[in-house]
Amino acid sequence: MIYLDYQATTAVAPEVADAMRPWIEEKFANPHSPSRWGREADAAIEVARKQVEQAIGLAGGSFAFTGSATEALNWAIKGTLEKVPAGRNRIVTARTEHAAVLDTCEWLEGRGVEVVYLPVGRDGLLDAAEVEAAVDERTALVAAMLVNNEIGVIQPVGEIAAIAHQAGALMLTDAVQAFGRVPIPEGPDLVAISAHKIHGPKGIGGLWMREGAEPTPLIHGGGQERGLRSGTLSPALAIGFGAAAKLASERRDTDAAYIERLWATAWHVLGPEWVLNGSPNQRYHGNLNIRREGLDAARLISNLRDIAFSLGSACASGSGRPSHVLRAIGLSDREARSSIRIGFGRYTTETELVDAIQRIDEAAKAQERFAA
Ligand code: PLP
Repeated sequence: MIYLDYQATTAVAPEVADAMRPWIEEKFANPHSPSRWGREADAAIEVARKQVEQAIGLAGGSFAFTGSATEALNWAIKGTLEKVPAGRNRIVTARTEHAAVLDTCEWLEGRGVEVVYLPVGRDGLLDAAEVEAAVDERTALVAAMLVNNEIGVIQPVGEIAAIAHQAGALMLTDAVQAFGRVPIPEGPDLVAISAHKIHGPKGIGGLWMREGAEPTPLIHGGGQERGLRSGTLSPALAIGFGAAAKLASERRDTDAAYIERLWATAWHVLGPEWVLNGSPNQRYHGNLNIRREGLDAARLISNLRDIAFSLGSACASGSGRPSHVLRAIGLSDREARSSIRIGFGRYTTETELVDAIQRIDEAAKAQERFAA
């Protein structure tokens, strides 16, 4: 199989597996127990926390582990709305957010919270003037994703945070696709991330919180994570997350340069019939979301079973619905259904990328010949 679905998940790095192994095979102590073994596990988790915080690179806050970024986003949104004064009952977000944000907002709407879903331009980007017009003294939270999971565009999160702060609101960024790949700008008060997108294990994510911006806890129990998120932490998962974050920091320039090379290679192979979805400039280059007139993308994917690529997001792919992100950037239903997402990164070889893209291109041409 040629794996080109890096936005859905990534392979666990060998260094990460090595770091996790002792904590799966031998060291099973509860990190919250006072025994010597418990304290050893706790100390290793704290090292991992520092590694993640360093990779996030923001000052003046701290990081709490959660079971996933979905949990971190639920916590950030619901826990912030729970804590702000009664007059602040509005969330401002974008139509192109991940379901973890959109569905949480919809749930809160059912409980009386007002949510503004801002449109984006053809380039997938929010307009600062429109954000400014929507954010006022009734706004509790502004939520904008840093790198979009479907089309890879980078929102001006620093600028949006400044607008939120001017109105006394907090700013949340879903940095799941950005973390370890592009720098997180200064500004957000809350940052959600996930380990499995950066060659770490699945089942662990977390929330970085500026001091004073900690949301009200949603999960109650043993008081772990400074009372903010109860539940016994998994040393193996936390240590794997730390190792993946450290590796991403150490390799940031090498990985970034390699991805630029893969991006250029991909465009060299693709013919002029392929059109890029979203901004050509404000984007992460490990995400190639492209369309081709008349293409049946679902059929293309089922004809090329040994290449893992996708229709947009893993969630949109499963539902059969055209992607809400592609619709939000103004694509017709037909154009959205003619779009594919090719995601590559650290462990993609140039040879396999060229091979896969040539085969995708040929299969698309064959569809056209068949339709003619
Ligand atoms: N946000 C974005 C942008 C994502 O791509 C994903 C992963 O699919 C998530 C949130 C959810 O992350 P997790 O799988 O850790 O729940």
